[in-house]
Amino acid sequence: MRRITIIGGGQAGLQLAIGLRKNGYRVRVIQNRTAADIAGGRVLSSQCMFSNAVQHERDLGIDFWSDTCPPVQGINFIVPNPDGSGTKMIDWTGRLDRDAFSVDQRVKIPRWMAEFERLGGELVIAEAGVAEIDACAAEDDLVIVASGKGEVGRIFPRNPDRSPFDKPMRALALTYVTGMTPRAPHSAVEFNLIPGVGEYFVFPALTTNGPCEIMVFEGIPGGPMDCWADVKTPEQHLERSLEILKTFLPWEYERSRDCALTDDNGILAGRFPPTVRHPVATLPSGRKVLGLADAVCLNDPITGQGSNNAAKAAAIYLRRILDHGDRPFDEAWMHDTFEAYWDYAQWVVRWTNMLLQPPPPFVLEIMATACSEPRLAHRMANGFDDPRDFFPWFADPAAASAYLAELKAA
Ligand SMILES: Cc1cc2nc3c(=O)[nH]c(=O)nc-3n(C[C@H](O)[C@H](O)[C@H](O)COP(=O)(O)OP(=O)(O)OC[C@H]3O[C@@H](n4cnc5c(N)ncnc54)[C@H](O)[C@@H]3O)c2cc1C
Repeated sequence: MRRITIIGGGQAGLQLAIGLRKNGYRVRVIQNRTAADIAGGRVLSSQCMFSNAVQHERDLGIDFWSDTCPPVQGINFIVPNPDGSGTKMIDWTGRLDRDAFSVDQRVKIPRWMAEFERLGGELVIAEAGVAEIDACAAEDDLVIVASGKGEVGRIFPRNPDRSPFDKPMRALALTYVTGMTPRAPHSAVEFNLIPGVGEYFVFPALTTNGPCEIMVFEGIPGGPMDCWADVKTPEQHLERSLEILKTFLPWEYERSRDCALTDDNGILAGRFPPTVRHPVATLPSGRKVLGLADAVCLNDPITGQGSNNAAKAAAIYLRRILDHGDRPFDEAWMHDTFEAYWDYAQWVVRWTNMLLQPPPPFVLEIMATACSEPRLAHRMANGFDDPRDFFPWFADPAAASAYLAELKAA
């Protein structure tokens, strides 16, 4: 029976490991944190996942939460008026055709670790360095590195042709809260873009102690929302979150003013450069390993795509492994496997990187037109589920103007 080792038990690693176990492979996952460490630790993400990605979990029978997790039913895009009047200049909502869900990874990952073991998978709790990975590669048919933002991912060289930024483009912060006034008439990601300052989005989720809302702050480095360095306590973190809302987004402050943190670990602040890496690394022995998801294709969270990408990448890798039968997993197969994923992911990377830069006039026109054009709002909302649909019209002025003209004429 073929044996495969996966380094890193996160969204991508565990989903792939469970898929392989269900297909009879011997699978070992090396994970550096115990289930208890993860469940009792800091939040890791805002992890909003749209329907196509959640479907991959359903296909494997590991979507344990769609009945209890509050759904995200739309996207509400808002740009405040630059005159400081506290009013909205752009405000449109598109309803998602199928609900999205955000299940705190502190809930999901420990449950999946247990499920993997229940299915007969071998879970090793250890920090895997290059030597350990090389030892696994000597023993197994295939080693896949799904270590997320972990240091060990540096064994995959950065690909400058696919990585336009070499520094963090946003100062990130998360605040998990209860007590927010629910959005009416239906739930949504409220996505606020404050030109020159950054973005704030908020949506319902399921955390360790029940339903909550997750606040995500994306501050332009050096700007007024890049303001977490002096925050020392969870109380100060919540206070700073509310100060930002009060200053820039009074409608968000109104619904949030009575919020409380879900727990003292419901906060996070950090930053990282979006980076695409070469997907195959050569170990000291000369053996090759393949990277998966964030380890080799790390996006800024501004478009909320990382977990979605991880689920889609894991599904593609699973299919490629099953289809490969008993043939050796050589370097060419590894490259082709990543390229099969890149076929999809390149559009997500392009769209995400576009949103990290000031919007060009034709994008502002698209955003403004959506206020009076529900078909456009609907298409943009559902593009979060499959960002390939943004191309070419969201990236090219001529295609944008042709599409807007077509909408007006219809
Ligand atoms: C602030 C923020 C907000 C986000 N919001 C969203 C969102 O709304 N929607 C969305 O889709 N995505 C979002 N993401 C991104 C999403 O969380 C990640 O893209 C996703 O978790 C990546 O999955 P992964 O399996 O590649 O890596 P991870 O989920 O990070 O898993 C990697 C695992 O490997 C382990 N590991 C690392 N190094 C080693 C080692 N040497 N040995 C053993 N184990 C190791 C880690 O502990 C971890 O368990 C957000 C991220 C951030 C930071």
